[in-house]
Amino acid sequence: MTAQPSQWIRNFVDGAFVEPDPAHAFDAVDPATGVAYARVHEADEQIVDRAVRAARRSLADGWANRSVGDRAAILRRAADLIEERFDDFVAAELADTGKPVTQARSLDVARAPMNFRAYADMVSATGQESYVTELADGRRALNYAVRKPLGVVAIIVPWNLPLLLLTWKVAPALACGNAVVVKPSEDTPGTASLLAEVLAEAGLPRGVYNVVHGFGADSAGAYLTEHPQIDGVTFTGSSATGTHVMKTVAPRVRPVSLELGGKNAAIVFDDVDVDEAVDGLSRSIFTNTGQVCLCTERVYVQRSIFDAVVAGLAAKAASLRLGVPMDGATTTGPLISQKHRDKVLGYLDLAVAEGATVVCGGGVPEMSDELDGGSWIEPTLWTGLDNSHRVMREEIFGPVAGLVPFDTEDEAIALANDTEYGLASVVWTSDLRRGHRVAAQMNVGLSWVNTWYLRDLRAPFGGVGLSGIGREGGESSLHFYTEPTNVCIQL
Ligand code: NAD
Repeated sequence: MTAQPSQWIRNFVDGAFVEPDPAHAFDAVDPATGVAYARVHEADEQIVDRAVRAARRSLADGWANRSVGDRAAILRRAADLIEERFDDFVAAELADTGKPVTQARSLDVARAPMNFRAYADMVSATGQESYVTELADGRRALNYAVRKPLGVVAIIVPWNLPLLLLTWKVAPALACGNAVVVKPSEDTPGTASLLAEVLAEAGLPRGVYNVVHGFGADSAGAYLTEHPQIDGVTFTGSSATGTHVMKTVAPRVRPVSLELGGKNAAIVFDDVDVDEAVDGLSRSIFTNTGQVCLCTERVYVQRSIFDAVVAGLAAKAASLRLGVPMDGATTTGPLISQKHRDKVLGYLDLAVAEGATVVCGGGVPEMSDELDGGSWIEPTLWTGLDNSHRVMREEIFGPVAGLVPFDTEDEAIALANDTEYGLASVVWTSDLRRGHRVAAQMNVGLSWVNTWYLRDLRAPFGGVGLSGIGREGGESSLHFYTEPTNVCIQL
């Protein structure tokens, strides 16, 4: 399908959009229809280099030394402007992802101004570490840590929550006085370029926020992480790419924050209100068509309520409405691409080959003509497999989950922790003591009890094992995006 040449998604370098080069471009495809809606200018090595140099210049031009109050004011203006252009951001997000408009409005776009305001508040409120040293010989000294920006930060993000995850990194990086070069996913380029317009209008000096579009290997992603003038990399994406990024940055020993994949477990004890747990599980399995790093793909249910939970979840899956993103009644969008759907379908075939009993779904749904070319998939549940099977160990990243019965609390904890990943978990119980006890034993960065994806932006966010290194959120972000210099003065 040929896109309209007038619809370009451009790179943004040194305060201006770069004239697109039709010889270096790829299609932006709406995954709900499979139709290309714009052309994206793929940044070559030169454009990436210009972006990094512009970022470095902006630091020297004074951005790094602007007062915290100035920086916070720009972030707050950016938040206001995103709200003024809310519908533009929603439209861009829908075109890129095909997600339901209700979700884009309430989660994806709504979170962007929250991210900017939260970090404006946090950077304004934070203090400095300080200690008075008292030595045995009577000498005393005052230590205080001056926090300085890292410098030029490369921000690489995935396609599942494009604007939310981008602003989650851009806001604290700018709040701390860094300049950034962002590389959005090739599948979801729209909102990063739109954000460039907003940040410029908010008064961000030229060169502080740059966008380079393209792919990973032999493209903008690799050119950026390999660039010798990058002072740190913050990456959200798959564990395989994260490993690669870490290796690329390692020879120059720069800080890396990795927010990676998950194979997240939920544990459901038989003391729960089954309807309430099923509601929560349905959210944690099917939200964003299962394409949230925090989504549940393994559900361990205490045996006496196993059949009731399976039946309840199957009914929930049947009630989901796949459809046109702009329809307020649509609950569930497509997967991000045909390529990703092939991957998910491959896992569903594997589940059957491994002996799964498919409870619901398992294939491609019949859609209307308009949506026929989209990458739609049926919400899918299975039983009959355990942790020895690949589909219970590898991240699938779709609206899918395997359900497994258990008998004792210790068994459930062991099953949930039996994974190379360690991002998120949920415990469903009405026993308060059990909730605290089990949640603390989950080997994850984010352990929820009787809820899922309830986020306080001040709380640490991240994972262990294959799910990542480091934490962002609140003070953790302020620490990642700065380096302390300890000043010691003898008193
Ligand atoms: P991906 O790793 O394929 O791509 C992520 C980004 O990295 C994209 O912008 C891509 O172009 C870029 N990239 C790819 N190869 C690169 C290379 N060699 N050098 C530099 N950049 C490169 O991931 P994806 O498929 O876009 O996203 C889905 C994955 O992200 C899932 O595994 C999901 O769990 C994970 N995720 C994690 C979190 C979290 O907070 N932990 C949040 C969202 C998504």
